Amino acid sequence: MITPEILKKAIRNVPDFPKKGIQFKDITTLLKQPDLLRYVIDNTTKYYEDKGITKIVAIESRGFITGGALAEKLGAGFVPVRKPGRLPAEVFKKSYALEYGENCIEIHRDALVPEDIVLLHDDLLATGGTALAAIDLISRFNVQQVYCCFIIELDFLKGREKIMPLYDVFSLVHF
Ligand code: AMP
Repeated sequence: MITPEILKKAIRNVPDFPKKGIQFKDITTLLKQPDLLRYVIDNTTKYYEDKGITKIVAIESRGFITGGALAEKLGAGFVPVRKPGRLPAEVFKKSYALEYGENCIEIHRDALVPEDIVLLHDDLLATGGTALAAIDLISRFNVQQVYCCFIIELDFLKGREKIMPLYDVFSLVHF
């Protein structure tokens, strides 16, 4: 039987990537195992199946991998949030601060409608800066509800505290 502990052990830790001091959580070692990939999708779906999700909004690039599978399984549409200059039509933009410097993400202006119930998805929640920026983009559409889910949450960075209690957060694995 697969458990969150088995999932956790399947995630590779790469020290000092992409820069010194970062413990990078590499999910490729999990994704390549069909039973573990299925566990991620099935258990996340279970949490949301009664919530009426109409769109998965996934963050480039690792969020796209599981985001597509979640959308299909929940019977929802898929909406990409991408780095600047990659979406071809008109976009809303949001800049946000990183530890060093700034980042920017974009969403198509016709991606969502006010009737949508949105599940924001990324592979990992760290400080919460990326998720908050994505929530800012989603909120421009006045949607009904926003939920947030991740495969991994780095509890010590307290990203969850920035997002809750306004938006529910669900993660399968905690470090
Ligand atoms: P944050 O905005 O600080 O919550 O960072 C979340 C984003 O950065 C996600 O898109 C993650 O994929 C990526 N990220 C941040 N820290 C890590 C880490 N230690 N390992 C892997 N990805 C990370």
